Amino acid sequence: MNSKKLIVLGSVNIDHILNVNEFPKPGETLTGTHYKISYGGKGANQAVAAGRLGANVQFIAAVGNDDLGKNFKQQLQSDHIDTHSVAVIDQENTGVALILVNQQGENQIAIYAGANAAVTPEYLDQFADDITKADAVLMQLETPLATVEQAAKLAKQNNTQVILNPAPAQKLSDELLAHVDIITPNETEAEFLTGIKIITEQDAQQAAQLLHDKGIHTVIITLGSKGAWVSHAQNGVIVPGFRVNAVDTIGAGDTFNGMLITALLEGKDLKQAVYYAHAAGALSVTKAGAQTSVPTRKEVDDFIQSQHLSMRN
Ligand code: ADP
Repeated sequence: MNSKKLIVLGSVNIDHILNVNEFPKPGETLTGTHYKISYGGKGANQAVAAGRLGANVQFIAAVGNDDLGKNFKQQLQSDHIDTHSVAVIDQENTGVALILVNQQGENQIAIYAGANAAVTPEYLDQFADDITKADAVLMQLETPLATVEQAAKLAKQNNTQVILNPAPAQKLSDELLAHVDIITPNETEAEFLTGIKIITEQDAQQAAQLLHDKGIHTVIITLGSKGAWVSHAQNGVIVPGFRVNAVDTIGAGDTFNGMLITALLEGKDLKQAVYYAHAAGALSVTKAGAQTSVPTRKEVDDFIQSQHLSMRN
């Protein structure tokens, strides 16, 4: 395990996934074809990815005082995550995502924040010391925005690196953006934040430049199977991804973020870290689900080695 310390601040959700032939109309009841409960939430997914891929990670989050929440917390521990800052909230449910998936693979999702809403700036105060001493803090936007803003400010003031995965997309203040060191939107989120639709490389650099202008040194726009646009100190390049047979892309971005920061904390340079993140992201799309599809570090290292060998042959 890495000696550098990572804090992930984020959400925990129990995903209830029901496959249906078609979406029900208002007032209609339909019978589903397949039902599954799985652990999710962008925060938990990224904490699991970082933990499984070798980071020394502490998770700041909250679950409800229900069986699912308590089991979830135990599961996080088995991925080497320090969960002393995962609160169990009385009288509250663990966050829930109700997901309907139709035959075309489209989804309809309704979320209940539940215990995630208890991750307030006051709650964060208890772990202020941990943030100031950590090497990096990784966040997304499923926790109350005021908490994300406070964590970013505190981290920046204490030279803790701030990585923001701005998902799901929402409007962000210039003050928050000025506290971010690395931002990792996908194409949709980059468009939401900058108003620029990413079609060409010029579009990607223009969007990255707008984010640089807000004070962010490193902008990584993930481009699905195409890889990522990586712009640092105003200079952008495309770092291509890996070609794999995709089964489902759920959690690809979360795995990418978890591996990216793990590799950076190991001392890899930016391009190398993105390369590792692509390998982990690509492996994750070859399996179904979010946390279930996060590879182990050995799988990532073996995959990278096999790519090097096939390039030499
Ligand atoms: P998100 O999951 O947040 O929408 P992306 O779709 O951009 O983000 O994917 C994030 C990363 O996951 C990509 O940069 C790439 O490394 C990897 N990835 C996603 N989809 C694929 C794919 N079909 N094949 C290979 N790698 C993929």
